[in-house]
Amino acid sequence: MKASEVIANLEKRFPNEPEYIQAVSVVLNSIEEEYNKHPEFEKANLIERLCIPERIYQFRVTWQDDNHVIHTNMGYRIQHSNAIGPYKGGLRFHPSVNLSILKFLAFEQTFKNSLTTLPMGGAKGGSDFDPAGKSDPEIMRFCQQFMSELYQYIGADVDVPAGDIGVGGREIGYLYGMYKKVTHAYTGVLTGKGLSFGGSLIRPEATGYGNIYFLQEMLATKGIDIEGKTIVVSGSGNVAQYTIQKAMRLGAKVVTCSDHNGYVYDPEGFTEEKLAYLMELKNVRHGRVKEYAEHFGLKYVAGARPWGEKCDIALPSATQNEINEEEAKTLVKNGCIAVSEGANMPSTPGAIKVFQESGLLYAPGKASNAGGVSVSGLEMAQNSVRYSWSAEEVDNKLHDIMRQIHASCVKYGKNPDGSINYVKGANVAGFMKVAEAMMAQGVV
Ligand code: NDP
Repeated sequence: MKASEVIANLEKRFPNEPEYIQAVSVVLNSIEEEYNKHPEFEKANLIERLCIPERIYQFRVTWQDDNHVIHTNMGYRIQHSNAIGPYKGGLRFHPSVNLSILKFLAFEQTFKNSLTTLPMGGAKGGSDFDPAGKSDPEIMRFCQQFMSELYQYIGADVDVPAGDIGVGGREIGYLYGMYKKVTHAYTGVLTGKGLSFGGSLIRPEATGYGNIYFLQEMLATKGIDIEGKTIVVSGSGNVAQYTIQKAMRLGAKVVTCSDHNGYVYDPEGFTEEKLAYLMELKNVRHGRVKEYAEHFGLKYVAGARPWGEKCDIALPSATQNEINEEEAKTLVKNGCIAVSEGANMPSTPGAIKVFQESGLLYAPGKASNAGGVSVSGLEMAQNSVRYSWSAEEVDNKLHDIMRQIHASCVKYGKNPDGSINYVKGANVAGFMKVAEAMMAQGVV
C-alpha cells in the first residue's frame, strides 16, 4: 500500500470532503509501514475497505417551531465499521454538520473504539440543526422528529448512538423517549442517558476526566506531575467542563475557557465556585462565556482562541481544526510541554507537525478523548445485565482503560530514542485489532 496513492484516489472519488480526507491521510501515513509488513492485508484490499464507510443513511427532518413555522434539516447516520462490535458513536447537532465532517468522525471513532479494549464498532451521526437560541419545546420536537426516522437503523445490538456537540443529557432523554414509543422496547439503544433510566454514573465526566488521566500517563513518562501546572482549555461544553474540574482538583491552574464568540483569561485560575457558575450558565441558561467573564471581572477576548496565552499544557476541548500551525508555534514558543486533545481532530496537520518536531508530548484525540466512549461501552454493559455500578467502580474502570490505551500507544509508537509517537501508536494499535477481525470475517 502506498498511502499517497490511496489518499489521491479517495480525493478523486470524494472531492468535496476535506475533513474526511484530512483524517484518512493522518491515519494512513502513520500505519503505512506496519500495514506493509502484512502482505495478506494488501491482497484483501483491506485499506480501501477500511476507509469507506459500510453504510450511510441520509434523511430529511421536518419540524415546527414555536411560531408554527415549518423547517427542514438534514439527518445522517454513518455506520463506518462493525468489525469488532455494534456500531457506536455520537450524534452532533450543529449547523456545520455535513457528510465530510461525519465521515471523518465515524472513521476516527472506529480506531478510537478499538483502542478502548471494549467490543464497539465505529459510527457517527447528527444533523445540521442549530440548537442555539431554540426553546426547550423546539429542541424536543426536533429530537422526536429526528428519532422518528433514525430508529429504523439503530438498536442495542446494531448501532448505539450517544451525544456530541449540541447533544447532551436533555437531547438524549428526548431521543430515547421517542425511540421507546415507536419501538415498544426498553433497551440500551442510546448512551449518555439520565441516571433514572439506565444511564451510567461518570458518563458526563468521562471524556474530560479520561483526558486528564491520559495526560498524567504521558507526563509520568517524563517524571512530571500535573500539580502546579498552568493549563489552557478551549470550549466550555461537556468535555471542557469536566477537564477543568479534574485538572483543578489535581492542583493545576486552568486559566482559560471559550465558546464560538471568544475566550476568557483568568490569571488566578478556576475555582469550584467559578466552575459551578460556568456549568449553570452553559448547561441551564445556555449563555455565553462573555457573561462569565463579566460576572467575575475577567479579561474577555472576542473572536479569538486562547492559544496565545502562556501555559505549560494545552487541552483543546471545543471542535475540529481549532489549533493551526501558527497557533501551535506560539504554544511551543511559550514553553508548552504537552497537548492532549479532548476534542476530535482539533489540531490541523500543520499543527501536529509542529508539535511532533518540537518534541512536546502530543496526544491525538482518538487516544486521549476515548474515555467518553469507554464509559458509554460500560453503560451498554450495565444495561445488558440490568445492573449499575457505583461511581467509584466506573471511575476506576475508566482510569484502567486510559492506562491501557496509553500502554498500547507506547507499544506501537515508541521511537528508537525512547520518545513516543502517540499518533503512530494510537493509529497502529487501533488499526491492528480491526484489521485482524476483518481478515477473519472474510470479504463482506
Ligand atoms: P458541547 O456541545 O458540550 O460543547 C462544545 C463547546 O465547543 C462549546 O463551548 C462550543 O461553543 C464550542 N465550540 C463548538 N464549535 C466551535 C467552533 N467552531 N468554534 C469555537 N468554539 C466551538 O460538546 P462536547 O463538549 O461534547 O464536545 C467537544 C468536542 O469533544 C467535540 O470535538 C466532540 O466531538 C469531542 N468529543 C466529545 C465527547 C463527549 O463525550 N461529549 C467524546 C469524545 C470527543 P458554544 O457554546 O458557543 O456552542
